[in-house]
Amino acid sequence: MTDRYILVTGGAGYIGSHTVIELINNGYKVVIVDNLSNSSYDAVARIEFIVNQHVPFYDIDLRNGDELDKVFKKYDIHGVIHFAALKAVGESTKIPLKYYENNVGGTMSLLEVCSANDVKTIVFSSSATVYGDVTRFGPTKYIPIPETCPTDPTNPYGKTKFVIEQILKDIHTSDNAWQVAILRYFNPIGAHPSGLLGEDPLGIPNNLLPYLAQVAIGRRETLSIFGDDYDSTDGTPIRDYIHVVDLAKGHIAALNYLKKLNDKGLYREWNLGTGKGSTVFQVYKAFCKAVGRELPYKVVGRRQGDVLNLTAKPDRAQQELQWKAELTVEDACRDLWRWTTENPFGFELQDYKWQEFDGLQNRLHTVQNKDLQVTFCNRGALIQDIKVGEQHIVCGFDNAKEYTLETNPYFGTTVGRYANRIKNGEFEIDGTKFQLTQNDGSNTLHAGNNGFDKQNFFGPVVKQKNGKFTLEFKVVDADGTDGFPGTLEAIVKYTIDSLSIEIEYEAKSLDDKPTVVNLTNHSYFNLSGNGTIDGTHIKSSVDQLLELDGAKLPTGNIISKTIPSTISPEVILDDCFVVDKDANAIDTRSKALQTLVEATHPDSNVKIVVSSTEPAFQFYTGDGVNCSQFGKRSGFCVEPSRFVDAVHSDNHKGQAVLKKGDVYGAKIKYEFR
Ligand code: NAD
Ligand code: UDP
Repeated sequence: MTDRYILVTGGAGYIGSHTVIELINNGYKVVIVDNLSNSSYDAVARIEFIVNQHVPFYDIDLRNGDELDKVFKKYDIHGVIHFAALKAVGESTKIPLKYYENNVGGTMSLLEVCSANDVKTIVFSSSATVYGDVTRFGPTKYIPIPETCPTDPTNPYGKTKFVIEQILKDIHTSDNAWQVAILRYFNPIGAHPSGLLGEDPLGIPNNLLPYLAQVAIGRRETLSIFGDDYDSTDGTPIRDYIHVVDLAKGHIAALNYLKKLNDKGLYREWNLGTGKGSTVFQVYKAFCKAVGRELPYKVVGRRQGDVLNLTAKPDRAQQELQWKAELTVEDACRDLWRWTTENPFGFELQDYKWQEFDGLQNRLHTVQNKDLQVTFCNRGALIQDIKVGEQHIVCGFDNAKEYTLETNPYFGTTVGRYANRIKNGEFEIDGTKFQLTQNDGSNTLHAGNNGFDKQNFFGPVVKQKNGKFTLEFKVVDADGTDGFPGTLEAIVKYTIDSLSIEIEYEAKSLDDKPTVVNLTNHSYFNLSGNGTIDGTHIKSSVDQLLELDGAKLPTGNIISKTIPSTISPEVILDDCFVVDKDANAIDTRSKALQTLVEATHPDSNVKIVVSSTEPAFQFYTGDGVNCSQFGKRSGFCVEPSRFVDAVHSDNHKGQAVLKKGDVYGAKIKYEFR
């Protein structure tokens, strides 16, 4: 089972994304299909960031059976959790055909592909809406609502759910091998406790809590409470609100239940609710408490179609699936408020866009902050482009393939887990020797053959706050990669304001094994716009460097040298300049940023200022660059970092050896004035 996949349709959506996390936490392998009609790829990026795993994702409409079939052929799919649907009740009354087409049509296409590939296990997202107005049987007969309550949906959305239930039932009747779990959700609320995932309502929210959250964050003025003349304790209607994480866990319970049946088929419905009803006022108060202040509301007339009470009888799920909701409305309000404050506009950020780069694994993420536009790629968490006004000022490839070629001179990438050289590819920590891959003669350069530049990072988590963008990427480098000890987690956080990019590195060992770390960014700057750096003016007050031997390893001497003020063809540099010869700390972030280099060019109005908290920086005139789109000296690098080969220097080892419990940290800033 562990090698087989669960296909999650609609896995980029609200409930789907939370369920993918629970699936992975429970050892399932997942592939997501979603046409992103009501979601964003950013949700998938954040799922990966949370679970520290890549999750295959396909931007496919379920109605495209041919494309869907390719996914079934590529992955060994064991079962499907089927979330993908349109879900707005009000909208469904206006465009019913679209709802039937998408929800019923999409399901039929999915089921055909399932049949063709002999996949007969499906968990379906149904809804309490299928019961319709249960008070038609009197005020108490079916409250709380059991699965045996007769169904009678009252709107096109609910009817699509009802029709799909019937289709699934018929399929099971025709072929008893089918295992069908119908999950009827009550009112899902809340968000992931990480603050990274939540509901992303586009337009004006219809639901109570998303609306209230927008009032709290200042996007809407006043909550309208639809009627306080119902027969409840405070006059407002009663619903069964269930935390989305509890709901997600219900899917794992259903899958596990089906798994235990072995090959026996089944068609069965389960309510997923808490069994506890809350009134609108109670939910309102719980959310105000989470926010810490009273939120404006007014009581208006009843909303058409609303009923007094929709509370689940969840006993069947509890008894059969061994599942029970554990979180409270208060928990959900707290998590929703965290999600809202961290992501006031959900995933819909102005001046941010992402695009496919090579079709599957790589994506470009572009942010625009006034005159500064920066594009990142998840491969190596690299900077692919920096545009100041109309001028592009770094070297970057316009196709993903070039980044994978050996000729790629580390353009814009994060270099790690160990930047620059390690003599003989070996080092010792606490008496234990480690041998690394030697990829630079007998030395190891930029971490060997599987450095961070070759890895796809998780994320990014993109946020926009106080006029700045932040993009966080994460990589988990396995114990033993190229001989490095310890599972290393590294986070690269970019902060982009209108004039600068700040880079913060943080790394720690996830298995407490000591290791070595040295991270930097390898952007090649070019201000001339004509393919060469010659003519660039440099201002730098740093005047000492590590003397290097013929193999570019330090001799142990520090000698005086400055960077010439004009880069002429005779100026050929690949040297490690020393900022602080006494530095020996693993985390430099508390230090003030120090200016390393200022660069200008007579043909450009842009000035680049590079600063960092690091004890040294490599200055490279790019003489080894030789690739299709860029020749030698098409960019210069300033790579703030630890001393070259610090692991072999008694006085500077502390810069690069990450001991148990330590956190590595560094900051770099590129300013454009
Ligand atoms: P959502 O809109 O966030 O997620 C649905 C996802 O399906 C979206 O990412 C959307 O892009 C995708 N999708 C829609 N049509 C598709 C198609 N034809 N092909 C591929 N992808 C498609 O909604 P949600 O709140 O996460 O709901 C998930 C499921 O749960 C839906 O079936 C919904 O009807 C059901 N449900 C939701 C609620 C609720 O209150 N949120 C209550 C009961 C049932
Ligand atoms: N509600 C409200 N104001 C709103 C949205 C909802 O008073 O802006 C009430 C609505 O009348 C219902 C409850 O909140 O009693 C839950 O409504 P929601 O639309 O969230 O879910 P539903 O139960 O209708 O699916």
